[in-house]
Amino acid sequence: LSPVPSDIDIAMAQTPKPIAELAEELQIAPHEYDLYGKYKAKVKLDVLDRLAHRQNGKYIIVAGITPTPLGEGKSTTTIGLCQALGAHLDRLAFACVRQPSQGPTFGIKGGAAGGGYSQVIPMDEFNLHLTGDIHAITAANNLLAAAIDARMFHESTQSDTALFNRLCPEKQGVRTFSPVMVTRLEKLGIQTRDPAQLAPEEIKRFVRLDIDPESITWQRVVDTNDRFLRKVTVGQSPTERGRERQTGFDIAVASECMAVLALSTSIKDMRERLGRMVVASSRQGNPITADDLGVGGALTVLLKDAIHPNLMQTLEGTPVFVHAGPFANIAHGNSSVLADKIALKLAGVDSEEQTEVKPGYVVTEAGFGADIGMEKFFDIKCRVSGLVPDAVVLVATIRALKMHGGGPAVTPGRPLPEIYLKENLELLEEGCKNLAKHVQNAHKFGMPVVVAINRFATDTDAEIDLVRQLASNAGAEKVTTCSHWAHGGQGALELGQAVIDMCEKTTRQPNFRFLYDLDQPIPDKIETIAREMYGAAGVTFSELAQHKIDTYTRQGFSGLPICMAKTHLSLSHDPTLKNVPTGFVVPVRDIRISDGAGFLYPLLGEMQTMPGLPTRPCFYDVDLDPETGRVKGLF
Ligand code: ADP
Repeated sequence: LSPVPSDIDIAMAQTPKPIAELAEELQIAPHEYDLYGKYKAKVKLDVLDRLAHRQNGKYIIVAGITPTPLGEGKSTTTIGLCQALGAHLDRLAFACVRQPSQGPTFGIKGGAAGGGYSQVIPMDEFNLHLTGDIHAITAANNLLAAAIDARMFHESTQSDTALFNRLCPEKQGVRTFSPVMVTRLEKLGIQTRDPAQLAPEEIKRFVRLDIDPESITWQRVVDTNDRFLRKVTVGQSPTERGRERQTGFDIAVASECMAVLALSTSIKDMRERLGRMVVASSRQGNPITADDLGVGGALTVLLKDAIHPNLMQTLEGTPVFVHAGPFANIAHGNSSVLADKIALKLAGVDSEEQTEVKPGYVVTEAGFGADIGMEKFFDIKCRVSGLVPDAVVLVATIRALKMHGGGPAVTPGRPLPEIYLKENLELLEEGCKNLAKHVQNAHKFGMPVVVAINRFATDTDAEIDLVRQLASNAGAEKVTTCSHWAHGGQGALELGQAVIDMCEKTTRQPNFRFLYDLDQPIPDKIETIAREMYGAAGVTFSELAQHKIDTYTRQGFSGLPICMAKTHLSLSHDPTLKNVPTGFVVPVRDIRISDGAGFLYPLLGEMQTMPGLPTRPCFYDVDLDPETGRVKGLF
């Protein structure tokens, strides 16, 4: 329709097919999925074993230019491309996207199901609750937080023997260590596995984690933009008197549990990662983990259903996996490894000889700009999964490029300045330097690039031609224009065909490489990313960051990959520097560890892990129609 109706109106106008029908089309057996209502299902990991022999389908990563408040449409393009491939170009095509947090859905951003005629449906279910994975993450995170404070409380009120008797109670006259306690004994280098044989000094070390309250990094979480929880004091009831402590809340998707869910490769792997998560240090300076607190197993149980990817569909009935939604700054901002792996098998072919069978596609999306989301996709996610992608789709819009070229700032709620709605080749040409830098960045990983110009109704042909020309000059292997927001899959045929040509017609040798080696020293890895991806002249480390580098190196963590926590609004660390800044030196303020997720994250500025609500949040428009029971006003 023209004009294009609102996202929710489009989504509601389409009747989804029962998800069991989609599962059947995908040849997923009934025992391999669990239904969550009529239109969502969780697909079990068993599919991976059944299809282990298969060649993977083609693997495409969608990334974007440096984001602006004007939006680039990465999610919309991911969905539009899959609709084009799956509903018009005769290929099986999975979209793999992140589950959105309810914070931004009710805050400033709105939902994340794509937009216009390229959406995941039912979009209200996609944006709200889904199958409860974020609630499970919240439960796991907060169980661990409760375990920390409770343990400190009990250690401060009980003798070594009393603690030991309670931690290791006698059952029918015998004391035994539980498996998680054996892990702790191993870590402490205590040989005996018989509780009766522990020397008093060993009992003391075993029962006293001796957590330094100042060192606790683990916060509580909630999936709401609630700025007043950024700093709170816990322990104010008379029953905890004298043990007050300042802590805070993060939004649930910023929890390390979420990054763990996204990077786990099996249930066993998830169990080990959850147990390894570091929450604090002891007063002696040793890291305290979830397993030290005895809670790793329970966290795994809380996440046992969340680990299964959620199957949904696009407006055109093609399959979508919605799974995990880690933050893109303090975490890696990509959907789950397991969803990609399962999709790649379902989209795969049984053997190379089956030349008559067309390969399927898995299109996965990286958050933020390509300097962050794509870099982390390659250097963190692909390292964990062992998967090798086939091509990068780089999304750009004319209006965002104009802003990089020097266009004025925009104010939410105010009309867009004219310059973004009328032809302006000068600003556009300047802003295309940002696109060119991201094309070159993708080439540093050995990846071919298909540029997708996500067309807005106000873009002129001359503007489109200019971007095509400049993207080509920058070395993009293919440049395409798409209008899937207005026309659905039909609007992304050129993009779909370019992706097919890139993957099926060219005889390129796979040339994928990581940006850095894991065995490089921590500062070298950080400097490589800053120079190569951001175009920095160098890096400086604060005293604190230097101290952390020394500590992590001594503790044996220097082999972890790097997950840079920086602003997404600039290639540099400074959000005000648009386009392609040069000559800047990146200051590393602090470096932290997520050992469960498996990365170190340097902080290049203040990172907000609990957003706030604006004066007029999106929730003003949301309501339920009492007549039909339908959700209104989501976008
Ligand atoms: P990203 O994934 O890059 O954050 P989204 O795909 O979520 O961006 O799109 C951001 C917003 O812009 C959505 O509300 C979407 O509907 C809208 N949008 C995307 N592409 C277009 C377009 N071509 N025309 C109009 N609106 C668009």
